Amino acid sequence: MKLAYKERIASRLTLVTALIILVVFWVIYLVANFTVVTNIDRELGLETDKHRGEIFMINGEIRFLHMDEWQEMEHSQIQLNPIFIEIVDLEGNSMDRSPNLRENHLSFSPEKSARKEAWTLRIGASEVRQMQIPLINAGKLEGYLLLAKSFEDSRELLNNLRNVLLVLYPVILLSLFLTMRYLAGKSIEPIQQIIRKTNQITQSNLNERVPVAEPNDEIGQLTRSINELLERLEASLNREKQFTSDASHELRTPLSVLRGTLEVLIRKPRNSEEYVEKIKTALSSIDRMSATIDQLLALAREEKGKNLVKEELELITFLEEIVDQLANEQQRKISFRCESGVPVFVNANEKSLQMILGNLIQNAIKYSGPDTEILVKTGVSQTLPYIEICDAGSGISPEYLEKIFDPFFREKEAVDQLIPGTGLGLAIVKKLAMESGIKISVSSEKGSGSTFRLDFPIS
Ligand code: ADP
Repeated sequence: MKLAYKERIASRLTLVTALIILVVFWVIYLVANFTVVTNIDRELGLETDKHRGEIFMINGEIRFLHMDEWQEMEHSQIQLNPIFIEIVDLEGNSMDRSPNLRENHLSFSPEKSARKEAWTLRIGASEVRQMQIPLINAGKLEGYLLLAKSFEDSRELLNNLRNVLLVLYPVILLSLFLTMRYLAGKSIEPIQQIIRKTNQITQSNLNERVPVAEPNDEIGQLTRSINELLERLEASLNREKQFTSDASHELRTPLSVLRGTLEVLIRKPRNSEEYVEKIKTALSSIDRMSATIDQLLALAREEKGKNLVKEELELITFLEEIVDQLANEQQRKISFRCESGVPVFVNANEKSLQMILGNLIQNAIKYSGPDTEILVKTGVSQTLPYIEICDAGSGISPEYLEKIFDPFFREKEAVDQLIPGTGLGLAIVKKLAMESGIKISVSSEKGSGSTFRLDFPIS
């Protein structure tokens, strides 16, 4: 059976309390029992001492100090709280007994007389506490005096106490369980509100939030965490939507150009130059599309940093090769400077690092004038290797310094000046850098140039 949370809390607390109450009730009963028995034994002891001075046995015969008093004494009458007396010889044979005993006898137990200890026994239908003392005459043991006191009233008191405790026990536990269940239900009410609200939130109303009732308690913290999670989900969903729409847009433009060019081509027969020109336009549209698709694939490739094969690379040699290769390809002068006197080793994936540097150096070329300097630097700062790619080009507006790493983001200026690009390069660079644990940062001033810096982790 699956219990509701509030019932689970209530039953656990009730169970613990049940054990505690059981122990408390048990102790109460034991203390009451002990007190009642001690009282009755003390009274019995006093009676015994009183009778010890009044009853003697001399050579097997009973003598009373005040015979007349003994005959009139209370033991012959039926009393509310009577004392029963019996005198027995050494073998326990009854020699005399108080009339209130009627046909009953007290119990004889010689070993208990030495210790003056009382015990409980039944005489007929009633329960009594009995004590026994030896009767000694001139140093000789002659017999025993047995005294008993009714235990009926005390037993009734103890039974009443036991019954009250037995009735109280389930009543207390039941009311405790119900109260705790009610209180537990009250305390988890805010959680139920959270459940209701989060159940209503779907993709279509992801902008809604769970109301925070008590901001400072744990439930407030839970609500805030859920709201933050929703915020992150919403942002990622929006990013995804934006990405899909940007990607479609980016592919639709060259497709329209391609379609337009082909439509123009089939409208009427053309001469071979016209065909060559139109086909070249079509081919460049196809090139643009495949470049975008390649970059989209690079961005979508699922490669976790852990699975990336890393090897030891010496940065100075590695960078010199890349710089030479790109300078040749792009027909552009690129300077290289090493600020470390010794070789700089890093642990990195060669392909990723090539792609990162290729993108950054190509951007430096794209976004700076043909005569401005492009410098690639490497060195070690506080024992960690770094690479910097510096250009003296157009620079980036401060408000876009974070945005340039978003997929498809391009500064308006780049679009207006028809500088080729898709806006995916830096998104790929950021993804690859994150996979390799490389920290990427940028500093730039509009009109003066930009510096992209890669800081490598400890090898
Ligand atoms: P793309 O170069 O294809 O436009 P990127 O993701 O590489 O895409 O760059 C995004 C934007 O960041 C560019 O459009 C440009 O506005 C800006 N940017 C990147 N690198 C530089 C740079 N070295 N100098 C100035 N602007 C840059």
